[in-house]
Amino acid sequence: MHELSICEGILQVIEDQAAEQKFTSVEKVRLEIGALAGVELEALKFGFDVVTKNSLAENAVLEIITVDGTAWCMPCQKPVPISQRYDACPECGGFQLQVTSGDELRIKDLEVN
Ligand SMILES: [Zn+2]
Repeated sequence: MHELSICEGILQVIEDQAAEQKFTSVEKVRLEIGALAGVELEALKFGFDVVTKNSLAENAVLEIITVDGTAWCMPCQKPVPISQRYDACPECGGFQLQVTSGDELRIKDLEVN
């Protein structure tokens, strides 16, 4: 499962930060996930519970902030909203789009003890 390996990566980052900043437990993890990142949020939440068992993030609340997809359309010369990576421009129907936001997948911040 793709989401499980994402969660393992997240836990790795948390553990690295814990070693560096000397905290011992995590209360809340805020993730920023773009609409185009291809992440199944329910699977991610489930995976997070699985991988954080018996870790310093075992009781952490997972908060997910979703970021809408936006792309720059060359023909229109402006940003347009998209819901999938290979969507056509909603204004001109063209495919000359460059994704500018929506593929985020990162830890925004942690609340720790
Ligand atoms: Zn366009």
